[in-house]
Amino acid sequence: MAEPGQNRKIAALRSSNCVYLFILGDIMDKYMQIALKEAQKSLLTDDVPIGAVIVENDTIIAKGHNTREKTHLITRHAEINAIEKACKKKKTWHLDDCILYVTLEPCKMCIEVIKQARIKQVIYAAKQEKQVNLKDPDMIKLENVENSSILLKEFFKNKRK
Ligand SMILES: [Zn+2]
Repeated sequence: MAEPGQNRKIAALRSSNCVYLFILGDIMDKYMQIALKEAQKSLLTDDVPIGAVIVENDTIIAKGHNTREKTHLITRHAEINAIEKACKKKKTWHLDDCILYVTLEPCKMCIEVIKQARIKQVIYAAKQEKQVNLKDPDMIKLENVENSSILLKEFFKNKRK
């Protein structure tokens, strides 16, 4: 059975860009190990141990772990906790140049938030055994509530001025 490091070496030798590939693998491992350490914190509050790390220009700008049970909040997944910290730190919700490391493949809610934050790369360790397919809620569109769209139109009109 080949060790993970050995696999990377084999992959690198097959590539013309071998040195780069080899170093990249080690960097990925380093951040994933930090995400795993972060995941351990979830255990203290009986939360499922999942950790996330956000890296920009080879620097960690935020870490997060799952705190759904601790906070009783459905959105407190590790990825979202880390993304919120990164946004606060950078004072923007645009995280274009960031890479998200997470110990478990993100759920659908987190993937959507990751996309909204413009994060282009996610590196995960464990694969989701089964993505839970929850039922969509009933969506009812009320007609004749024009003030709602007027409010939005006014806002964007003023933005463009
Ligand atoms: Zn999630």
